[in-house]
Amino acid sequence: MTDAPRKILIAEDEAKIAALLADYLRSSGFDPVCVDNGQEALHRLQGGAFSALLLDLMLPGVDGIEVCRQVRQYSSLPILMITARVEEIDRLLGLEIGADDYICKPFSPREVVARLRAQLRRAEGRLAGLPGQLTAASGGFAIDEVGKRVFFGDQPLNLTQVEYRLLRALVSQPGRVFSRDHLLDHVHIDNRDTSDRAVDSHIKNLRRKLQGLVPSGHECIGAVYGVGYRFDPPE
Ligand code: CA
Repeated sequence: MTDAPRKILIAEDEAKIAALLADYLRSSGFDPVCVDNGQEALHRLQGGAFSALLLDLMLPGVDGIEVCRQVRQYSSLPILMITARVEEIDRLLGLEIGADDYICKPFSPREVVARLRAQLRRAEGRLAGLPGQLTAASGGFAIDEVGKRVFFGDQPLNLTQVEYRLLRALVSQPGRVFSRDHLLDHVHIDNRDTSDRAVDSHIKNLRRKLQGLVPSGHECIGAVYGVGYRFDPPE
Protein backbone atom coordinates (compact mmCIF):
# COMPACT_ATOMS: atom_id res chain seq x y z
CA MET A 1 0.00 0.00 0.00
CA THR A 2 1.07 3.54 -0.60
CA ASP A 3 1.13 6.43 1.80
CA ALA A 4 0.87 8.97 -1.00
CA PRO A 5 -2.09 11.33 -0.46
CA ARG A 6 -5.21 10.15 -2.21
CA LYS A 7 -6.09 12.03 -5.37
CA ILE A 8 -9.54 13.56 -5.42
CA LEU A 9 -10.99 15.05 -8.58
CA ILE A 10 -13.05 18.21 -8.07
CA ALA A 11 -15.31 19.10 -11.00
CA GLU A 12 -16.66 22.57 -10.25
CA ASP A 13 -16.94 25.55 -12.58
CA GLU A 14 -17.18 28.21 -9.88
CA ALA A 15 -13.53 29.04 -9.33
CA LYS A 16 -14.01 30.30 -5.76
CA ILE A 17 -15.79 27.14 -4.65
CA ALA A 18 -13.26 24.92 -6.39
CA ALA A 19 -10.39 26.77 -4.70
CA LEU A 20 -12.08 26.57 -1.30
CA LEU A 21 -12.61 22.82 -1.67
CA ALA A 22 -9.10 22.23 -2.95
CA ASP A 23 -7.54 24.18 -0.06
CA TYR A 24 -9.55 22.33 2.52
CA LEU A 25 -8.87 18.94 0.99
CA ARG A 26 -5.18 19.67 0.77
CA SER A 27 -5.03 20.70 4.41
CA SER A 28 -6.88 17.48 5.26
CA GLY A 29 -4.19 15.38 3.64
CA PHE A 30 -5.66 14.80 0.18
CA ASP A 31 -4.25 15.60 -3.24
CA PRO A 32 -7.01 17.54 -5.04
CA VAL A 33 -7.13 18.16 -8.78
CA CYS A 34 -9.64 20.70 -10.13
CA VAL A 35 -11.39 20.77 -13.48
CA ASP A 36 -14.09 23.24 -14.51
CA ASN A 37 -16.15 21.22 -16.97
CA GLY A 38 -17.62 17.78 -17.42
CA GLN A 39 -15.69 16.80 -20.52
CA GLU A 40 -12.40 17.40 -18.78
CA ALA A 41 -13.61 15.48 -15.72
CA LEU A 42 -14.39 12.43 -17.86
CA HIS A 43 -11.06 12.73 -19.60
CA ARG A 44 -9.10 12.95 -16.34
CA LEU A 45 -10.96 10.01 -14.82
CA GLN A 46 -10.04 7.83 -17.78
CA GLY A 47 -6.45 8.52 -16.80
CA GLY A 48 -7.29 6.82 -13.51
CA ALA A 49 -5.65 7.03 -10.10
CA PHE A 50 -8.44 9.02 -8.43
CA SER A 51 -9.92 7.82 -5.15
CA ALA A 52 -13.13 9.87 -5.37
CA LEU A 53 -14.97 12.51 -7.36
CA LEU A 54 -16.58 15.68 -6.02
CA LEU A 55 -18.97 16.60 -8.78
CA ASP A 56 -20.94 19.81 -9.20
CA LEU A 57 -24.36 19.19 -10.71
CA MET A 58 -24.44 22.29 -12.94
CA LEU A 59 -21.38 22.20 -15.15
CA PRO A 60 -20.98 23.74 -18.60
CA GLY A 61 -21.09 21.31 -21.50
CA VAL A 62 -21.50 17.81 -20.09
CA ASP A 63 -23.38 18.33 -16.80
CA GLY A 64 -22.80 16.54 -13.52
CA ILE A 65 -25.64 14.10 -14.02
CA GLU A 66 -24.24 12.94 -17.34
CA VAL A 67 -20.71 12.69 -15.94
CA CYS A 68 -21.99 10.56 -13.05
CA ARG A 69 -24.00 8.35 -15.35
CA GLN A 70 -21.04 7.76 -17.64
CA VAL A 71 -18.58 7.05 -14.83
CA ARG A 72 -21.02 4.58 -13.29
CA GLN A 73 -20.96 2.53 -16.47
CA TYR A 74 -17.43 1.41 -15.80
CA SER A 75 -16.53 2.34 -12.23
CA SER A 76 -17.74 2.23 -8.62
CA LEU A 77 -15.55 5.24 -7.77
CA PRO A 78 -17.13 7.13 -4.85
CA ILE A 79 -19.04 10.12 -6.28
CA LEU A 80 -20.30 12.98 -4.13
CA MET A 81 -22.63 15.32 -5.96
CA ILE A 82 -22.63 18.99 -5.07
CA THR A 83 -25.96 20.63 -5.71
CA ALA A 84 -28.11 23.58 -4.79
CA ARG A 85 -31.17 21.74 -6.07
CA VAL A 86 -32.56 19.78 -3.15
CA GLU A 87 -35.39 18.44 -5.29
CA GLU A 88 -32.88 16.50 -7.39
CA ILE A 89 -31.46 14.49 -4.51
CA ASP A 90 -33.60 11.37 -4.75
CA ARG A 91 -32.82 11.14 -8.42
CA LEU A 92 -29.08 11.61 -7.92
CA LEU A 93 -28.96 8.76 -5.43
CA GLY A 94 -31.28 6.59 -7.47
CA LEU A 95 -30.39 3.68 -9.64
CA GLU A 96 -30.25 5.58 -12.87
CA ILE A 97 -27.60 8.12 -11.87
CA GLY A 98 -25.97 6.32 -8.98
CA ALA A 99 -24.18 8.99 -6.94
CA ASP A 100 -23.03 7.78 -3.52
CA ASP A 101 -23.87 10.89 -1.54
CA TYR A 102 -24.69 14.55 -2.01
CA ILE A 103 -23.74 17.85 -0.49
CA CYS A 104 -26.08 20.82 -0.63
CA LYS A 105 -24.81 24.26 -1.47
CA PRO A 106 -24.02 26.26 0.53
CA PHE A 107 -21.90 23.72 2.39
CA SER A 108 -19.22 23.72 5.04
CA PRO A 109 -15.89 22.34 3.79
CA ARG A 110 -15.65 20.40 7.04
CA GLU A 111 -18.82 18.52 6.16
CA VAL A 112 -17.52 17.81 2.67
CA VAL A 113 -14.37 16.24 4.10
CA ALA A 114 -16.36 14.19 6.63
CA ARG A 115 -18.61 12.83 3.91
CA LEU A 116 -15.69 12.19 1.62
CA ARG A 117 -13.91 10.20 4.32
CA ALA A 118 -17.06 8.15 4.96
CA GLN A 119 -17.30 7.26 1.27
CA LEU A 120 -13.62 6.38 1.09
CA ARG A 121 -13.94 4.10 4.12
CA ARG A 122 -16.92 2.49 2.50
CA ALA A 123 -15.09 1.94 -0.78
CA GLU A 124 -11.98 0.63 0.94
CA GLY A 125 -14.00 -1.68 3.18
CA ARG A 126 -15.71 -3.00 0.07
CA LEU A 127 -12.35 -3.70 -1.54
CA ALA A 128 -10.98 -5.40 1.55
CA GLY A 129 -14.26 -7.27 2.05
CA LEU A 130 -14.28 -6.07 5.64
CA PRO A 131 -17.31 -4.93 7.54
CA GLY A 132 -17.30 -1.55 9.22
CA GLN A 133 -19.24 -1.18 12.43
CA LEU A 134 -22.00 -3.78 12.32
CA THR A 135 -25.37 -3.12 13.91
CA ALA A 136 -27.27 -6.28 14.69
CA ALA A 137 -30.77 -6.25 13.26
CA SER A 138 -33.05 -9.28 13.40
CA GLY A 139 -32.88 -12.91 12.31
CA GLY A 140 -29.12 -13.04 11.89
CA PHE A 141 -29.00 -9.92 9.74
CA ALA A 142 -26.67 -7.02 10.54
CA ILE A 143 -26.27 -3.57 9.03
CA ASP A 144 -22.95 -2.01 8.09
CA GLU A 145 -23.88 1.67 8.06
CA VAL A 146 -20.46 2.81 6.90
CA GLY A 147 -20.04 0.30 4.11
CA LYS A 148 -23.77 0.50 3.35
CA ARG A 149 -24.07 -3.26 3.30
CA VAL A 150 -26.28 -5.86 4.91
CA PHE A 151 -24.71 -9.01 6.32
CA PHE A 152 -26.35 -12.34 6.99
CA GLY A 153 -24.10 -13.96 9.55
CA ASP A 154 -20.66 -13.02 8.29
CA GLN A 155 -21.75 -13.01 4.65
CA PRO A 156 -22.15 -9.60 2.99
CA LEU A 157 -25.07 -9.51 0.56
CA ASN A 158 -24.39 -8.28 -2.91
CA LEU A 159 -26.95 -5.45 -3.06
CA THR A 160 -27.54 -2.38 -5.15
CA GLN A 161 -27.82 0.88 -3.21
CA VAL A 162 -31.59 0.87 -3.48
CA GLU A 163 -31.79 -2.75 -2.34
CA TYR A 164 -29.53 -1.88 0.58
CA ARG A 165 -31.84 0.93 1.68
CA LEU A 166 -34.93 -1.22 1.24
CA LEU A 167 -33.56 -4.17 3.18
CA ARG A 168 -32.13 -1.92 5.88
CA ALA A 169 -35.57 -0.40 6.46
CA LEU A 170 -37.24 -3.81 6.55
CA VAL A 171 -34.83 -5.70 8.81
CA SER A 172 -34.56 -2.80 11.24
CA GLN A 173 -38.22 -3.19 12.13
CA PRO A 174 -39.22 -6.82 11.75
CA GLY A 175 -42.94 -7.46 11.64
CA ARG A 176 -43.79 -3.87 10.76
CA VAL A 177 -45.79 -3.54 7.57
CA PHE A 178 -44.30 -0.93 5.25
CA SER A 179 -46.58 0.52 2.61
CA ARG A 180 -45.21 0.89 -0.89
CA ASP A 181 -45.66 4.66 -0.56
CA HIS A 182 -43.56 4.73 2.57
CA LEU A 183 -40.83 2.72 0.91
CA LEU A 184 -40.90 4.97 -2.16
CA ASP A 185 -40.60 8.07 0.02
CA HIS A 186 -37.89 6.80 2.33
CA VAL A 187 -35.71 4.59 0.22
CA HIS A 188 -34.78 7.05 -2.54
CA ILE A 189 -36.06 4.94 -5.35
CA ASP A 190 -35.60 6.90 -8.53
CA ASN A 191 -38.15 9.71 -8.49
CA ARG A 192 -39.06 9.33 -12.09
CA ASP A 193 -40.28 5.82 -11.50
CA THR A 194 -42.53 6.33 -8.51
CA SER A 195 -44.83 3.48 -9.30
CA ASP A 196 -45.68 0.57 -7.03
CA ARG A 197 -44.09 -1.59 -9.66
CA ALA A 198 -40.68 -0.05 -8.93
CA VAL A 199 -40.95 -1.22 -5.33
CA ASP A 200 -42.24 -4.63 -6.37
CA SER A 201 -39.40 -5.19 -8.78
CA HIS A 202 -36.74 -4.27 -6.20
CA ILE A 203 -38.42 -6.55 -3.66
CA LYS A 204 -38.46 -9.35 -6.20
CA ASN A 205 -34.71 -8.98 -6.73
CA LEU A 206 -34.10 -8.83 -2.99
CA ARG A 207 -36.10 -12.02 -2.43
CA ARG A 208 -34.08 -13.76 -5.07
CA LYS A 209 -30.85 -12.71 -3.40
CA LEU A 210 -32.09 -13.79 0.04
CA GLN A 211 -33.37 -17.13 -1.20
CA GLY A 212 -30.02 -18.86 -1.52
CA LEU A 213 -28.90 -17.48 1.81
CA VAL A 214 -31.57 -18.28 4.33
CA PRO A 215 -32.07 -21.92 5.32
CA SER A 216 -35.04 -24.01 4.20
CA GLY A 217 -36.45 -21.54 1.72
CA HIS A 218 -37.94 -19.27 4.39
CA GLU A 219 -39.49 -16.23 2.69
CA CYS A 220 -38.02 -13.29 4.62
CA ILE A 221 -40.03 -10.58 2.90
CA GLY A 222 -43.72 -11.19 3.18
CA ALA A 223 -46.32 -9.41 1.07
CA VAL A 224 -49.32 -7.99 2.88
CA TYR A 225 -52.09 -7.91 0.35
CA GLY A 226 -53.19 -4.43 -0.64
CA VAL A 227 -50.75 -2.80 1.79
CA GLY A 228 -47.09 -3.54 1.26
CA TYR A 229 -44.28 -5.59 2.71
CA ARG A 230 -43.07 -6.92 6.02
CA PHE A 231 -39.85 -8.54 7.16
CA ASP A 232 -40.28 -11.97 8.78
CA PRO A 233 -36.93 -12.96 10.27
CA PRO A 234 -35.87 -16.56 9.85
CA GLU A 235 -35.87 -18.73 13.00
CA1 CA B 1 -21.79 24.99 -11.32
